[in-house]
Amino acid sequence: MAASKSDDYDYDLFTIGAGSGGVRASRVAAAHGAKVAIAEEHRVGGTCVIRGCVPKKMLVYGAHFAEDLEDCRQFGWTVENKSFDWVKLRDHVLSDVDRLNGLYTETLENHDVEIFHERAELTGKHEITLASGKVVTAKYILIATGARPHIPDCPGHELGITSNEAFHLDAIPKRILIAGGGYIANEFAGIFNEFGSHVTIINRSDQLLRHYDESLRDRLLQISMMKGIDFRFHAEFRGIEKTEEGCLKVSMTKHDDIEVDCVMFATGRVPNTEGLGLDKAGVKLGDKGEVVVDRFSKTSVDHIYAVGDVTDRVQLTPVAIREGQAFADTVFGDGDPVAVDHNCIPSAVFSHPPIAAVGMTEGEARNKLGNIKVYQSDFRPMKNVVAGRNERGLYKMITDAANGRIVGIGMIGPEAPEIMQAAAVAVKAGLTKADFDATTAIHPTMAEELVLLR
Ligand code: NDP
Repeated sequence: MAASKSDDYDYDLFTIGAGSGGVRASRVAAAHGAKVAIAEEHRVGGTCVIRGCVPKKMLVYGAHFAEDLEDCRQFGWTVENKSFDWVKLRDHVLSDVDRLNGLYTETLENHDVEIFHERAELTGKHEITLASGKVVTAKYILIATGARPHIPDCPGHELGITSNEAFHLDAIPKRILIAGGGYIANEFAGIFNEFGSHVTIINRSDQLLRHYDESLRDRLLQISMMKGIDFRFHAEFRGIEKTEEGCLKVSMTKHDDIEVDCVMFATGRVPNTEGLGLDKAGVKLGDKGEVVVDRFSKTSVDHIYAVGDVTDRVQLTPVAIREGQAFADTVFGDGDPVAVDHNCIPSAVFSHPPIAAVGMTEGEARNKLGNIKVYQSDFRPMKNVVAGRNERGLYKMITDAANGRIVGIGMIGPEAPEIMQAAAVAVKAGLTKADFDATTAIHPTMAEELVLLR
């Protein structure tokens, strides 16, 4: 352990927030020999495990059967009396979340990390006060409190839900309006649409998923509309009212009112920094309330660090995990300080169909490098051809024209995130288009398009 353990404190490390970043940091610090405690006011596991990526992905799988059951007919199958039981899926997903919550708790316990199942607040330079009134001290403090959904400040906003509540619905709404055009909006639009809801997405601009390549976004929009999802752009929330019939009437700018059974806000996430005593401790916050950190996740106070969504760097679980690991290795390990490389992070949107990308979009590359070459394949996957499903995939590779180095890959199509994980290794490693050309295709696959791009 690089940091010498001091008997002046109760703990070497006190972590606030047992999500992906906090759990990784705590257990690695403990493995380095530190005496560690962690406080969590909700459930161990955090957003990703309890009310985010993991249960969402299970719903994505569940939703996709709607298409598979349709497509299977062309493959000779007859499925009679098909029906969908939301409560069964919901309860199954929630019980798996319980299992994972147990596993995360076990991991911490196995590493002798003391868990406080309550809220914690900084009340002194090295002092933490728990909701029960217990006061403890720590040499280092890690803020890993994540983020929460942003809810627009409009009349009746309390009548809406967020993705947090979507996992607990009593029934699938007949009509749902989703506000926002980002990850959560597009993923849940796909899920609810496949489960039979009529979905309307309203977005303040005319751009969905604006960090992704324009042609992939256009393709998703086109396919989503084909599947029956409605979109209203340049629409800002004015308010929600409950009607006499118990429906929700939503008013917005530039569009007529709309009546739905459920409204879901997916308008970004805000860092959880309120009420943590960070101001008293002298921890500097940014404009959105995020904890400002350096490349080693250190805040403006030398012994206080922060990782994950609360820092609003890249709001993705694997990034929070890496930040937590790097922090623990830097502060408690024996090696050199480790900074997380935030460049070239692959990502995916689990929409129907999904999008995946790594590196720069065509627009970004053109602005940054000027001279680029773009290769693309616009194809109809074999399975869709046989199924009679008129959905085309699109793969794009962007290279630096000066040396052929791949600076970005984007894809939309079945299993795009699964394919992207391997392709991202090549992009991160700085491989060229010629390296892909030199690789023999695996035929017949969708992934082979990547080595056959023209
Ligand atoms: P996103 O940032 O993806 O999208 C937010 C959307 O809401 C954008 O369309 C944005 O519009 C709009 N918006 C933002 N603020 C307002 C406002 N005040 N009023 C109206 N509209 C607004 O956020 P999400 O909530 O979908 O997801 C949060 C984060 O969680 C993501 O950024 C991502 O990092 C992570 N996540 C990752 C997933 C994955 O990896 N598959 C899945 C789900 C979440 P505009 O474009 O104009 O700003």
